Amino acid sequence: MGDPKGFLKIGRKPTPKRDKVERVQDYRYIYEPMPEDDLRDQAARCMDCGVPFCNVGCPLGNLIPDWNDLVYRDHWREAIDRLHATNNFPEFTGMLCPAPCEPACVLTINDDPVTIKEIELSIINRAFDEGWVAPKPPPPEKRTGKRVAVVGSGPAGLAAAQQLNWAGHSVTVFEKDDRIGGLLMYGIPDYKIEKWVVERRVDLMREEGIEFRTNAYVGYDPTTEELKENFDAVILAVGALAGRDLDVPGRELDGIHLAMDYLVQQNRRVAGLPIEEKEITAKGKNVVILGGGDTSADCLGNSHREGCASVKVLTHGPEPPKNPDRLTWPDWPLVLQTYPVHEEGGERGWSVAVTGFSGSNGRVERMHCIRTKRRPDGKTEYLTGTDFEIETELVLLAIGFTGPVHDRFLEDLNLGYTERGAIPSNGDENFGTKEPGVLVAGDAKRGASLIVWAIAEGRKAARQADQYLTGKSMLSSLEGGSPLNPTH
Ligand SMILES: Cc1cc2nc3c(=O)[nH]c(=O)nc-3n(C[C@H](O)[C@H](O)[C@H](O)COP(=O)(O)OP(=O)(O)OC[C@H]3O[C@@H](n4cnc5c(N)ncnc54)[C@H](O)[C@@H]3O)c2cc1C
Ligand code: SF4
Repeated sequence: MGDPKGFLKIGRKPTPKRDKVERVQDYRYIYEPMPEDDLRDQAARCMDCGVPFCNVGCPLGNLIPDWNDLVYRDHWREAIDRLHATNNFPEFTGMLCPAPCEPACVLTINDDPVTIKEIELSIINRAFDEGWVAPKPPPPEKRTGKRVAVVGSGPAGLAAAQQLNWAGHSVTVFEKDDRIGGLLMYGIPDYKIEKWVVERRVDLMREEGIEFRTNAYVGYDPTTEELKENFDAVILAVGALAGRDLDVPGRELDGIHLAMDYLVQQNRRVAGLPIEEKEITAKGKNVVILGGGDTSADCLGNSHREGCASVKVLTHGPEPPKNPDRLTWPDWPLVLQTYPVHEEGGERGWSVAVTGFSGSNGRVERMHCIRTKRRPDGKTEYLTGTDFEIETELVLLAIGFTGPVHDRFLEDLNLGYTERGAIPSNGDENFGTKEPGVLVAGDAKRGASLIVWAIAEGRKAARQADQYLTGKSMLSSLEGGSPLNPTH
């Protein structure tokens, strides 16, 4: 531990953000780097407590107290080695992780936690700036001659691919979209992660010898049979991209869309890529976003940046408490999630249910709503006489995901689905499926979740696939998987 009294002398300092008036005018990253002196101070707040709960709170088992200490001592090179030991892509988690490690930090019991995520991002940024992140192709004599197909190029597929390639297998990543990255590329807005950050990592992996095939929709081209014939093992990292829909009168009206249809178009617009479907835009419109999670927040940030006339974010459930109940430590607390985009404007509403939509000429003009109450048994009750209407020209449904898309590939494999709509595996910590040599990881296995979980599962699935292919594995088993599982 750098400074034994650091946590008594220094308070938590939030990550600096760009001014909100300025940042809504572009799609550049919202946050600014933290000055090095501040970082050192923040790292000094780590108490290196005997049992580092933060390390268990992180699904990757990141060695957080180690790298806090190394940053405090100015040993950045060693810090990145410690970080890369458990996390293939700290720049993704450093920018995007909701940091379940932080509510698990022991300081949270009576103070604010260490700024773990910011320190993680600073370590990897420094490493890239210094040129310390170089491709590490396995030596040719270590090649095993085994071929692995990774289907899906989100964080789970990328982590599995990198690990398996390092183990000496020949890895091909198949992606049905035209760019690699899964939700990192198409879904998550540029102001949360600029796409060159994803491409920088994919380029390194390409240099390490991984083959990436875009516009390759497995099940169609290549067919499932071709895939099985040509590969010794398959990792299913197909995500959970089937959006939950609403079944209310008027849903068919034009102007009501699943959030992902809008978000993918936004990423393409920002990248200057063509959009083939009918364009969905928030520009000049009164927008209503239904749902309260990451997807909803991303629709909100994009709507502001597009120049909407107004925007309301409405949620079915009651408003969560603004302050966490400290008694929940070290678990993830139930607390109102406020993202930087909520500071940029828009109205938030809770306890609202949608009863229908109406409009004219086939286009939505009004959303019909009713106020609700959450009963002690957890069920939602509609409050009679509280009906109201909202005028709107664009409604975005960000009300969750029902699991992987049931496409030809999954039909061919016939692995079935769990109650949550995910692909069944042979156990929580077992990534195999009923088909030998076919493993599943990430959102496809867990249901819609987080990037940190996707990377953790990709790593573990890779280790299991390596064992399946060679009877043993030297791949890291440092990561533990968190029993302090947040609600995701
Ligand atoms: C809008 C949005 C914002 C989010 N923001 C955050 C955030 O800020 N922080 C966070 O931690 N998490 C966030 N999440 C969750 C996070 O993005 C996911 O948990 C994570 O991306 C899951 O990774 P994955 O690799 O399992 O799947 P995905 O990232 O979904 O990737 C799956 C890929 O598989 C491809 N694919 C599917 N079927 C086939 C096939 N048959 N052939 C070829 N390719 C196929 C898909 O095209 C896709 O590219 C967000 C999710 C959404 C929807
Ligand atoms: S990956 Fe997420 S949970 Fe793990 S240390 Fe980083 S911010 Fe915390």
